Amino acid sequence: MPELPEVEMVVRHLGSLITGRRLERVRLLRPRLVPDLSPGSFAARMKGATVEEVRRRGKHILAQLSNGRTWITHLRMSGRFLYLDPGEVEVAHTHAHFRLDNGKDLIFVDPRHFGLMAVVRTADLGEVDSLRRLGPEPFAAEFDAGYLLEQCRRSGRAIKLLLLDQTRVVGLGNIYAAEALHRAKIDPGILSNQLTAEQVARLHGEILAVLREAIEVGSTLHTDPREVWGRYGGGAFEENWRVYDREGLGCYTCGSKIRRLTQGGRSTYYCPGCQA
Ligand SMILES: [Zn+2]
Repeated sequence: MPELPEVEMVVRHLGSLITGRRLERVRLLRPRLVPDLSPGSFAARMKGATVEEVRRRGKHILAQLSNGRTWITHLRMSGRFLYLDPGEVEVAHTHAHFRLDNGKDLIFVDPRHFGLMAVVRTADLGEVDSLRRLGPEPFAAEFDAGYLLEQCRRSGRAIKLLLLDQTRVVGLGNIYAAEALHRAKIDPGILSNQLTAEQVARLHGEILAVLREAIEVGSTLHTDPREVWGRYGGGAFEENWRVYDREGLGCYTCGSKIRRLTQGGRSTYYCPGCQA
């Protein structure tokens, strides 16, 4: 599942391709991609509008349209956009299809069918359930060490699980939460309210550092311009992972073998030496 850096890459790439473009034609081919609208209403709310800006909120992609609406996309597990020449679109694998005013086709494909889209009035964006409950962006001023300490003090959950909770802070998933904890030398299973202020301050710094580094790595990749998908899953940042998906391999810092444990039904990777 793409996390903040990968969605940020998609947003930048998609923004460079479709900002200023008019949506000449919109077709929804897999109706469940847009649970709240019929295919006809989805198309009617977008057709003829120009994309003014593409931005990110958490892992949501928000495309602001010239008709006062915002088109929201969540890639979830496997959703991605492709930017194609006319005639290249294979309808069988296309879940949504957008013909742009430059003659290009933007399509959304999603092998695992978890992706979601919506179109809402931009003025009502603050009331959209999935957005309303989100915590602060990691790079926002609100997310400082004091804020994270406050969240930790109020929580008896393991710190790894708190970091994954999008109502506390957005954008961290299984990979970057594990990486940040490793870099901060914090046991992922420790209860949040048992962390010292010093540990939380270190964790805060490492969260920002690992996200920043991943975005930096992603922005220097030479990707196929037609594949608007941030290379998650064959990840851009994969070579820089220190613990994630490295069970049984040696820690780069202390040489101990990386271990895997299950938390909240998901794997957590950590070093028993550094993160004791
Ligand atoms: Zn280690």
